[in-house]
Amino acid sequence: MPEGATIHNAAKRVGAALVGSTIRSIETPHPRHGKDRWPERLAGREVREVDAHGKHLFLRFDGDLTLHSHLRMGGAWGVYRSGERWHRPPRRAWLVIRTDEHEVVQFDGPVLELMTEGRTRFDKRLAALGPDLLRDDFSERDFLRRLREDDQTRGIGDALLDQRNIAGIGNVWKNEGCFIARISPWRKLSDVSDDEALGIVRGIQPLMQRSAERGGRIPKTIHERAGLPCPRCGTKIRSRGQGDDNRNAFWCPECQR
Ligand SMILES: [Zn+2]
Repeated sequence: MPEGATIHNAAKRVGAALVGSTIRSIETPHPRHGKDRWPERLAGREVREVDAHGKHLFLRFDGDLTLHSHLRMGGAWGVYRSGERWHRPPRRAWLVIRTDEHEVVQFDGPVLELMTEGRTRFDKRLAALGPDLLRDDFSERDFLRRLREDDQTRGIGDALLDQRNIAGIGNVWKNEGCFIARISPWRKLSDVSDDEALGIVRGIQPLMQRSAERGGRIPKTIHERAGLPCPRCGTKIRSRGQGDDNRNAFWCPECQR
């Protein structure tokens, strides 16, 4: 599943290809968008900005129109030189934008919608998004306020995945963050101090930034290493599904408490 850093990296690459370039064509090959007439509505407009908030990506066009995308579990953005071979089959493309030099393609992206700039601000799902660690406007205070408004019997690992508390953290960063801060993902929010919660996000922020710059790859020290020795103390790493979505928590029972 693409994490926030992957989407920020995609926003950077898509923006570099589109902002300031003349758009030659926009296609929406997927049948679901066959009647949307986006190519007509977007004809002649330039892409002003491409940005990400959590796992959402926004292509902001001139004249108040924004394409909003969310890749869910299996989608991907591709940025290619014109004529270069795509890394997924063309039939899986939902959106293709061409300039003289580039082809920007969204593959397998189940959420793709054209909305006015105003609607992006008032759309319920988008307005509810928590602060994004990778954005300049990230606010620790806002994150803590949302965390304290959440159910305090919830495990910290589960709460970190809730995009309303903080946007862009996926299962891998959740596990890595709890490991860095030496906090068990199972500890109840009521038993996690503000400083401890900030320790998690401050611990992963620079790593996520590096990952966003370098293509979204994530260095894993604990994630998916169940049964292997903890790199810090040698104790066997444990794993178990957590939360409503049963996402796997990985933790060291000895040095994460
Ligand atoms: Zn350990």
